[in-house]
Amino acid sequence: MKKNDLVTVTIEDIGVNGEGIGKVDGYTLFIKDAVIGDVVEAKLMKAKKNYGYARLMRIMKPSEYRVEPKCVVARQCGGCQIQAMSYERQLEFKNQKVKNNLTRIGGIPEELIDQIMEPICGMEEPYRYRNKAQFPIGRDKNGKLVAGFYAGRTHQIIPCSDCVLGVEVNQKILDIILVYMEKYGIEPYDEEQHKGLVRHVLIRYGFTTDEIMVCLVVNGRKIPHAETLTKELGKISGMTSITMSVNMEKTNVIMGKEIVTLWGQSYITDYIGDVKYQISPLSFYQVNPVQTRNLYGTALEYAGLHGEETVWDVYCGIGTISLFLAQKAGWVYGVEIVPQAIEDAKRNAEINGIHNAEFYVGKAEEVLPEFYENYAKENPGRQARADVIVVDPPRKGCEKAVLETMARMKPRRIVYVSCDSATLARDVKWLRENGYELERGKAVDMFPMTGHVETVVLMSRVEK
Ligand code: SAH
Repeated sequence: MKKNDLVTVTIEDIGVNGEGIGKVDGYTLFIKDAVIGDVVEAKLMKAKKNYGYARLMRIMKPSEYRVEPKCVVARQCGGCQIQAMSYERQLEFKNQKVKNNLTRIGGIPEELIDQIMEPICGMEEPYRYRNKAQFPIGRDKNGKLVAGFYAGRTHQIIPCSDCVLGVEVNQKILDIILVYMEKYGIEPYDEEQHKGLVRHVLIRYGFTTDEIMVCLVVNGRKIPHAETLTKELGKISGMTSITMSVNMEKTNVIMGKEIVTLWGQSYITDYIGDVKYQISPLSFYQVNPVQTRNLYGTALEYAGLHGEETVWDVYCGIGTISLFLAQKAGWVYGVEIVPQAIEDAKRNAEINGIHNAEFYVGKAEEVLPEFYENYAKENPGRQARADVIVVDPPRKGCEKAVLETMARMKPRRIVYVSCDSATLARDVKWLRENGYELERGKAVDMFPMTGHVETVVLMSRVEK
């Protein structure tokens, strides 16, 4: 097999990112946009010794799981990977991916997995779930002003102002901004030349409050005729905050640090469950609030709190889980590396009248062991204990020092929330070898149409 070869392949499996996998004479091909069950014609783009990457050229026989994508740019856009797969099949794929990782990497017997894993939590309406969108602004080949998304792995803008994962009002907002830019001759930012003004438009929508935030990320300190623009945008029902983010750096980072309010207030408000959040342009906030409620609701259920417990929320971000837990616990400690996130967490605790949560800024792998050692020094003969520890680490999972300290603190329960079931499986394996057993687990589909899946598991202490 060599580059540019055209082959006919039956897609027999799904790769970790949702791509189709098939074999030709024992040679494995990974084919983006091909759906399990399809028979396709594909062109080999990159040939390795035992496997290669091919481009889907023609569908010869569509799979029973193939559906028409709702979005016309689903294939070009880097945002969605599996819109052509029926939602039911997407859920099965994600559930299986989690189970496979737990058995293969975690070494957990299949019977145990089948026994404990609850059905995957999917969405009733798997579109328009995102409360946040960041649209780059630029010009297309014909020089026309466009808003859209980057194609996979490049910075070419695929025009699209109505992403089917986002809210409908995005399009209206972008139209107003593009018309205004056209009218006043305001240039979009050109990455190569490092010239032009408007780089990105960030839009956030509070699903429970209907409040809207628009933030224009600009390569400059002033937006000409800003009042005309804000007056137009201000007419949109629910508009609450219009800001500008100054980003004059030559960088891939979207947001600039300085935020200037142009109209209304500097933040919007939203709720997850009963907890209220103030969200600024720079705040981290989960993008799928419906599934966040379900994921953290499950984490809370797994924590099994009665009101007196000491609980840790490690990798706590803006404290979403901590504040959820605090409603049912005696005391909650949160640990997070990003100082601004901790500021948000503290403010969110305050506006909700939550006084039993305390937050530490720092690396979890340093804060947790230090807390443990200091406690022993200050309380001779005693050890820092926790009743429940919740972790929600980034993709790389927990550092060894975090796992080791957790095992020393001997919580009755460890609730592990994960965005990468491969590292989850690795850490579950370690915990099973160090006094814990996997007791419950559930995958939650936070990002329909993409290859990502979140998982939450409960591990209970076996030794006393
Ligand atoms: N539960 C949080 C989100 C967790 S995402 C919420 O809902 O807001 C993982 C978090 O871990 C991020 O906020 C990231 O900033 C933080 N993080 C990454 N590495 C870390 C480390 N070594 N120590 C502590 N926090 C870390």
